[in-house]
Amino acid sequence: MQNRTLSKKKTIQYIVATAVGIVLVISIFLPLFRNISSKLVEDITRSISRQYSQELNEQMSAHVSSALSQPFDRLEMIYCSLSMMDKLESEQLTEMISRFEKYNDISYLAFVDENGVVYESGGSYLGTTRIKMLGNLLSGKKRLISDNETIGGNSFALMGTSYDEPVKMGDTNICAAIIGLSNEELTDEIVLNSRYSGGYSSIIHRDGSYIVKNRSVPFSGLNIFSIIGKNYTCSEEEINILKEAINKGEPYAVAATMKGDEVFSFLYFSPVEDTDWYIVNTMPGTFIKVSIEKLQESMAKISVLGIAILITFIVILLQNSSRSKLRRKQHELEQAYELAEQANQAKTEFLFSMSHDIRTPMNAILGYSRLIKKELTDPKLLEYQDKIEQSGNLLLMLINNVLDMSHIDSGKTEIREEYISISELAKSISDVFDTEAAKKDIKLSYKVNAEHDHVMADVTKLNEIYMNIVSNAIKYTPAGGSVTALLDELPCDREGYARMQVKISDTGMGISGEFLPHIFDSFTRERNTTMGKVAGTGLGLSIVKKLVDLMGGTIEVESEPGKGSTFTVILSFRIADEEYYSSVANSDKSENNSADLSGKRILLAEDNELNAEIAIAVLEEMGLTVEHAENGRICLDMLANADADYYDLILMDIQMPVMNGYEATRAIRSLEDKEKSGIPIIAMTANAFEEDKKNAFDAGMTGFVAKPINVKDLTDQLAKILK
Ligand code: ADP
Repeated sequence: MQNRTLSKKKTIQYIVATAVGIVLVISIFLPLFRNISSKLVEDITRSISRQYSQELNEQMSAHVSSALSQPFDRLEMIYCSLSMMDKLESEQLTEMISRFEKYNDISYLAFVDENGVVYESGGSYLGTTRIKMLGNLLSGKKRLISDNETIGGNSFALMGTSYDEPVKMGDTNICAAIIGLSNEELTDEIVLNSRYSGGYSSIIHRDGSYIVKNRSVPFSGLNIFSIIGKNYTCSEEEINILKEAINKGEPYAVAATMKGDEVFSFLYFSPVEDTDWYIVNTMPGTFIKVSIEKLQESMAKISVLGIAILITFIVILLQNSSRSKLRRKQHELEQAYELAEQANQAKTEFLFSMSHDIRTPMNAILGYSRLIKKELTDPKLLEYQDKIEQSGNLLLMLINNVLDMSHIDSGKTEIREEYISISELAKSISDVFDTEAAKKDIKLSYKVNAEHDHVMADVTKLNEIYMNIVSNAIKYTPAGGSVTALLDELPCDREGYARMQVKISDTGMGISGEFLPHIFDSFTRERNTTMGKVAGTGLGLSIVKKLVDLMGGTIEVESEPGKGSTFTVILSFRIADEEYYSSVANSDKSENNSADLSGKRILLAEDNELNAEIAIAVLEEMGLTVEHAENGRICLDMLANADADYYDLILMDIQMPVMNGYEATRAIRSLEDKEKSGIPIIAMTANAFEEDKKNAFDAGMTGFVAKPINVKDLTDQLAKILK
């Protein structure tokens, strides 16, 4: 979940960074690109204009060719109607010409007879000297075009064709016809302005003279070569190359800058089929300039957009790669964590079973040591016995601590709330250490300052926490010193809860600054304490820390070497319900543990011979009669076969062959004889955890004592039940 919000945050950061990057790129690169691209754009435009003009010219020339064929087609039609006439007379012909001109919107129409006489609407005349193309027409050539012919004082382009079968007219034959188009007609006919190209076209002769000079040509003059030479930055050599190409009838392109212009203009020359004519398409500089600027702008925008897309793409790629790296890392970490967990689990299980197995022989060692003590009188031997007992107790403490640690680490430890009185807890802890403190000449005192004395808490764990700290304080304080415990109730903002602060201070050796940060680490002890031969395991405080954490509290240490240390524990407890604690308090008071146990008969189920012997010795010392069963099954049989009130109580080991303690208890509880099935059963086991206790009670047991046997504990339990 946290990972997802993190990666979401990252994605937003990426998006913002990319957006800022793109804005920066646009503002920095857009003007830059405009400048850089102008040269490039000019080159591109040049090549595009050439291509464009060429295409345009080809179309134009095709169009001109087809436009020019129209007058010839008309001449064919007119010939057809002429040939259908019977006995054609010259007056009739002149009249027909007028009609044709009028109804077909023709400016000039003429027929030619075999003698070179030209018949027009206005009459006839010998045209051989007046019309240039006449000679060719009379020689039978078809589809001739002749420009700059002057007829009746007007300049015309003439288009003439001869007929294969002349039409008889009197004693002569009409063998050719001519259509004349004025300059304007020619321009209109061929439509030489392109609305879309931005350019304009003219028609020239191969010698450069204009046949049709487009009105858009901004220069006066009759010859395009001299116009180019005068008005464009174009060398003579270039013009000569142009002329040469035109002479050969090849298409040619000129890119030249008009004087006073910034950008080149483009002139494309292409021949018109079947004529001596050339179409010249001019693309003016201004038009090209606008196009260049538009292109430049678009290119700059496209480039910047391209870069922005590229950046986005790279950012996405980077993000993806960093995401997949992160995922890989996460996966590796998870695997490593799993491995560590498995290793930890294996370690916990090992410590767990090892500690349990050590507890059983420890029970024998401590038990026999206690038994032997009674037989000893020699002070030397008594001293040895004392050392065995001390070492045994230390070893037991170590095992208990290891078990506690692994139990907490395995996550099995639960908080079991029960009623306690804070002041009583403080007193009981003080009572435990009174003798030891007095022995060491240490002044032990405590003060409780709490508004709420009755609370619900896990008493076992609280005892473990405070007793560990107090026992350390006494352990690490030399004779003549003092240990003080101060309990204060702090303000608490949680409804129904009380917040308690316990400060345990001593005037002992203190803790060095280097060791202080490691004080809660497992198996760590300060060098001077180990050298000072103070017995310890280095586990106590790490258990304390884990328990405090588990209970949601805090623990802090302040210390000055040589002056002393103060441990501050803050924990919150649920305030106990008044009715509940008064009933508990009353029932506690009614209990009287000092019952006389003598004469009571105990059935002891224990498979380990040594442990059985010790237990029997301890129990007999209390004045009890003991009978021994080697396993659960024998125990069940012994009870079943005895009189109902023969046994007073069963002490039941848990791990036994044939039938274990739980099975035996269940079997006993289901016996028909109510007196037998209700017999008190106390579990006696090396498995000393809460869940073992719970299992024992679940199986129907009445009480629980841990091994190695704590005689006081056992006496208390027996007294409570057998009273
Ligand atoms: P140990 O069994 O060694 O007492 P603990 O975990 O209880 O293990 O304590 C760890 C170490 O912290 C001790 O060995 C000692 O060096 C130091 N220490 C703990 N309490 C005190 C104290 N009150 N004064 C001085 N040193 C202390």
